[in-house]
Amino acid sequence: MKTISQLYDQFYAKQKQGDTLQAKWQAKANTVAEIFNVRRPVVKVSYRKDAHAKYFGGTRTLRISENNWGGIEDAFHHEIAHHIVRERFGRAKSHGKEFKRIIWDVVCKCYSDPRQYKWNYDYKAVGKYAEKKISKLPCKALMVI
Ligand SMILES: [Zn+2]
Repeated sequence: MKTISQLYDQFYAKQKQGDTLQAKWQAKANTVAEIFNVRRPVVKVSYRKDAHAKYFGGTRTLRISENNWGGIEDAFHHEIAHHIVRERFGRAKSHGKEFKRIIWDVVCKCYSDPRQYKWNYDYKAVGKYAEKKISKLPCKALMVI
């Protein structure tokens, strides 16, 4: 059983870590938003075990978590693709053609190699789209940020 002081230390350490992570991902989100010429989203890093990554269009908020399928990095890029789609196309189909094009573009710009993104963990249709693109690599859009 932990003492209140130990719990506080643990919470505070997490909070500090959270702030750093949040600042890091917010900075990345601002950069991606600028490159894609859309408004900046708000990034919230969650430590809840049951928190899965999600984009809230109404408040332009990306919730990301380390407990997510592909890890926090892939989750971030998936969710910011939703943000860009929402900003450009309004309420487009969740993982439809606009999303597939945008996430591919995001990954090409943000990863040194788009194969680093765990496409097989993403939605099946998204993974299939990427598979086709990967077969035609190198892609001219590659630009690491
Ligand atoms: Zn999604």
